[in-house]
Amino acid sequence: MAAIREEADVSPSGAAAIEDIATRHLVQPWPTSGSIGAEARGLIQSGEGIYVTDHTGRRLIDGPAGMWCVNVGHRRPELAQVLYDQAMDLSYNSPWYTTNAPSAVLAERLAGHAPEGMNHVFYTTGGSSAVETALRFMQFYNNVRGRPEKKLIVSREGAYHGSTYLSASLNGRPRDHDWMDSASQLVLKLSSPNPFRRPSGVSVEAFCDGLVEEFRTLIATTGAERIGAFVAEPIQASGGVIVPPGDYLKRMRALCTEHDILYISDEVVTAFGRLGQVFASDDVFGIKPDMITFAKGVTSGYFPLGGVMIASRLFSDLRQSNHSDAMFAHGLTYSSHPIGCAVALKNLDILEDGLLEQARTISGHFQSRLKALEALPLVGEVRGLGLMACIECVADRVSNNPLTLDLEVGKRIDKHCQEMGLLVRPLINMCVMSPPLTISENQIDEMADILDRSIRLTQDELV
Ligand code: PLP
Repeated sequence: MAAIREEADVSPSGAAAIEDIATRHLVQPWPTSGSIGAEARGLIQSGEGIYVTDHTGRRLIDGPAGMWCVNVGHRRPELAQVLYDQAMDLSYNSPWYTTNAPSAVLAERLAGHAPEGMNHVFYTTGGSSAVETALRFMQFYNNVRGRPEKKLIVSREGAYHGSTYLSASLNGRPRDHDWMDSASQLVLKLSSPNPFRRPSGVSVEAFCDGLVEEFRTLIATTGAERIGAFVAEPIQASGGVIVPPGDYLKRMRALCTEHDILYISDEVVTAFGRLGQVFASDDVFGIKPDMITFAKGVTSGYFPLGGVMIASRLFSDLRQSNHSDAMFAHGLTYSSHPIGCAVALKNLDILEDGLLEQARTISGHFQSRLKALEALPLVGEVRGLGLMACIECVADRVSNNPLTLDLEVGKRIDKHCQEMGLLVRPLINMCVMSPPLTISENQIDEMADILDRSIRLTQDELV
């Protein structure tokens, strides 16, 4: 371990060399064609608790917990130990012919947290492959049940569901499709349930009614016999932490039940403590989906793992079909990976051992400290739930008009924050925060103070 560290010299001078290698050899995620294959990104050397340290030794609060994932914080010795121990016991087995203990024990633990009647899990390597698996399962389910035309997928504007072809086809954020192909013939889009962007003069209740009506109309005009699934994040995360109004999710669930449309709840972000529960669909929003996709926080980012929880009734339906030899021809080499599942078990121990409760307790302080930033003229709205929040900046507070893209307000705020010791996730004219659940009140105060100063500096620059 030490030898590897010595070889990789990440002192300031060594860092320059590594950045140079990265620039010449790495294709970074989400590049633009102007810099693809030639882009250096800041070098992070280590992490501890809620902090990461860059190559200059500067410590930064990890405001987005990596990518919404480092839920139990960085540098957990017990997780490192499990990684090592499991690799020494059994680093891999083929899920094609065999099974392993960590994946089975984890499945039982997850079923204990999932909504009633959801007893099975299919493991994947991350969130995109989890969504892809859920969609392919829906297709298989309807083929076997003799309904091959019931395949359309309903998604929403503002959604993010992944970067594989089918999962990405559901995405609904600006720029997701500008230069990319997708299976658009399979996807129907509804409006984002974003109360902040509701038409002026419309109450939140009426807005919610309109969203449900939009779905009802879509089903009526398309035909329920052609719609296989509705896919929704309980809170649209990368779309800007959109918390849906009132009983929107329950009413969408009810429409799905009425029309035999599978409800896929994409909990890649919201599961594993971000909203204070292991799964939020039922425990926070009171809905029982047919499938729940998860990833990220399941291992707190210590190992790539994802999965789909699947309601047992779907298996009964399949077993009762006339096609007992129909194969769900879908599996990944790293499905049920023993190391990932062992890490997830230990991660779950940590969450259950007080951290979920701590997240529930501290989230009030987190939300109220950030909400106070609405006093700043540049801020149109601060919204969120649990330990996820978004600051949306606007051109003016009366119209709430969005700022023009070229101002890159999110990036400006992030730059000032970094200078003061905080990483945030910039999203066009928004900044998103989802810190490790281990964050303390004082650290939240520090975050909020840095954000306050950074937004003021950005405001001054725009005048
Ligand atoms: N679903 C949601 C809600 C996400 O936020 C993400 C990633 O951010 C994904 C799916 C895709 O997950 P991954 O990047 O692990 O493939």
